[in-house]
Amino acid sequence: MSTIHDNIAKVRTRIREAAQASGRDPQTVQLLAVSKSKPADALRDARACGQRDFGENYLQEALAKQAELAGLDLVWHFIGPIQSNKTKPLAEHFAWVHSVDRLKIAERLSAQRPAHLEPLNICLQVNVSGEASKSGCEPAELPALAAAVAALPHLRLRGLMAIPEPTPDVAAQRAAFARLRQLKDSLPLELDTLSMGMSDDLEAAIAEGASWVRIGSALFGARDYPQKSSESSVR
Ligand SMILES: *Cc1c(COP(=O)(O)O)cnc(C)c1O
Repeated sequence: MSTIHDNIAKVRTRIREAAQASGRDPQTVQLLAVSKSKPADALRDARACGQRDFGENYLQEALAKQAELAGLDLVWHFIGPIQSNKTKPLAEHFAWVHSVDRLKIAERLSAQRPAHLEPLNICLQVNVSGEASKSGCEPAELPALAAAVAALPHLRLRGLMAIPEPTPDVAAQRAAFARLRQLKDSLPLELDTLSMGMSDDLEAAIAEGASWVRIGSALFGARDYPQKSSESSVR
């Protein structure tokens, strides 16, 4: 508990200082706690420190934690790869999906969003790293995809998300995040969200306009299972 408490305090300080360094109001940067591979108790501890928004990558794992933590007033975000035959539980059990990269997925999410729930908040994942990355739509595909997704009735298109190729070079980090911001600004839509920045590059992301930073290891420590878990992944 005290470790998570200390880590949350440290990450909040990093966010505040990064925002202030670029003349931004720290309140405009929200912290998404990425809890993949972490047990429900870790989320409970984070909730006790005021953290409400949690990001999960693997559907079965997320659903199990949601059941365990029902009643805690958490906001669930899905940030992992999406397989088209697994969209229904996403539409039913999440408030946000950050990782939509093709129209078919968005159409299914809209059709499957239960009528009694608010529209599902959507970010379109864009590949800003070229050949180095295979996830996300290509920037050239974005205008048509965004227009089509914005027209779907049970979704609310909020903005863009990216996972740039990791690099220790801060200038290169900033260039990738700037690219995502420019893509957002180039769309003829009112979008309020840039989901970008992780434990190692949140300062660069905030300098380029991040509205959600997605932070896992800096809050919860290193993950104990490999990122690619084909059994529990939804892809
Ligand atoms: C795991 C993950 C994160 C968090 O990464 P850290 O480096 O642990 O902060 C953020 N976004 C996505 C999409 C992830 O899969």
